[in-house]
Amino acid sequence: MSCLFCRIAAGEIPARIAYQDDQVVAFHDIEPRAPTHVLVVPREHVPSVDSIEARHGATLAAMVAAAQRVAREVGAERTGYRLVLNHGPDAGQSVDHLHLHLLAGRQLSWPPG
Ligand code: 5GP
Ligand code: ZN
Repeated sequence: MSCLFCRIAAGEIPARIAYQDDQVVAFHDIEPRAPTHVLVVPREHVPSVDSIEARHGATLAAMVAAAQRVAREVGAERTGYRLVLNHGPDAGQSVDHLHLHLLAGRQLSWPPG
């Protein structure tokens, strides 16, 4: 298994886990861009949001539910948070395993760079 996030999800590479269940794993980004910067990944290997199909509906719902849960733990449901899915070079996707960024804890500028 060569995929970095598959290996983190399997516990083969250490990460600071924020939440996990049978469908998803949420862990803190190694290079945080906000006071709270957590990545939510499906346990199933999906290359990016561009590969999402109808059968992934429950997985996507589980990813959002995990992000909501972590956001609430830091009080971000009151202050606000951003969820981001990057696909491909123009968006700066650097790991080819679907990951939902949860960013919170500071004022986030819009539009993103
Ligand atoms: P992307 O740019 O693909 O949307 O986001 C990939 C994210 O994964 C980046 O924010 C990067 O800091 C994070 N990342 C890359 N390698 C690792 C790692 O080994 N561990 C953790 N926790 N995060 C990583
Ligand atoms: Zn993977």
